[in-house]
Amino acid sequence: MLDLVDCSGKQDLKSMTEEELKAFLAGLGEKPFRARQLYQWMHEKLAGSFEEMSSLSKELRGSLEEKASLTSLKVAGERVSAIDGTRKYLFALEDGNVIESVWMQYHHGNSVCISSQVGCRMGCRFCASTLEGLERNLRASEMLDQVYMIQKLTGERVSNVVVMGSGEPMDNYDNVVRFLRLISSKEGLNISQRNLTVSTCGLVPQIRRFAKEGLQVTLALSLHAPNDQVRRGLMPIANRYGLKEVLEACRYYYETTGRRLTFEYSLVRGVNDNENEARALARLIGGYHGHVNLIPVNPIKERDFVESTHKAVQDFKNLLEKSGINVTIRREMGRDIGGACGQLRKSYLEQQEPT
Ligand code: SAH
Repeated sequence: MLDLVDCSGKQDLKSMTEEELKAFLAGLGEKPFRARQLYQWMHEKLAGSFEEMSSLSKELRGSLEEKASLTSLKVAGERVSAIDGTRKYLFALEDGNVIESVWMQYHHGNSVCISSQVGCRMGCRFCASTLEGLERNLRASEMLDQVYMIQKLTGERVSNVVVMGSGEPMDNYDNVVRFLRLISSKEGLNISQRNLTVSTCGLVPQIRRFAKEGLQVTLALSLHAPNDQVRRGLMPIANRYGLKEVLEACRYYYETTGRRLTFEYSLVRGVNDNENEARALARLIGGYHGHVNLIPVNPIKERDFVESTHKAVQDFKNLLEKSGINVTIRREMGRDIGGACGQLRKSYLEQQEPT
């Protein structure tokens, strides 16, 4: 479902394309060129209020105030990693829900990891985002604002965005695709689509549809297992779509868009990290134009999964490399600040609970 109104029923201008803004402004008797100005105020100059939009007439600003809204997030918490400077923000939405976003500095630029939903309904066993289920989808404006706020708070330009925070982006398809178009638009932040990554647990029909959007973003598949049996034990979605079907959809994505795939593999001690599993993984994805991101699972207190030993991670990597697979061990950014999906929000919610 597509959302172009905010929680109080006002028009959500920041989620609109320039064409949609034109139509909205025509309804207010305004000329079409105003749409470009309004768009740039929101998406390029990152205005926090209609008041700031000084090139618009006072009358127009008044009617915008009345009929429309400019989404805004409030900082509800911030943690800075002492290890690597990663920052994790807890943002409050207008309806009081909280979401988290992460800012990471790499040598190739600044990356922001955003949430696509409040909570999640996919039920992956090791993930904190899904423990309380899905609360609601985020609108495109609420995804954009995570990036805009972080750019304003850090004073640094964001060059990469990964949709790898809480939520399943393919379960909020229309709003996520809208977000990707807006954030890469020339009149907005103009972030190259090649620097955008969408991570999915593997919703097959949506992956196939996504391939045909004409976008150039990177698709990351959360694989986490070399066979259906182990995968089903970690990810309920694997009961709906088998590996064969998911990987065929990924191949279709690669063939249609020309974008190389990323496979994410969180290593869980004694569950998916032995040598046979590494070999099976190499056989499974050997024929794909993919790259594997290994990350030792970040343990959450609600589950008894434990991360793989340093040696097991290295051995796993070496075995994949021997088979010619491209692998990186993801730096465990922000491990000291609840860096994994949904951990900060979960602890915030626990503090709010009446005792
Ligand atoms: N729903 C999407 C995107 C969000 S999760 C997806 O499933 O891909 C981003 C990545 O972090 C996924 O690969 C997810 O499986 C992984 N992840 C979630 N919790 C984790 C944890 N505690 N430790 C390690 N990886 C985790």
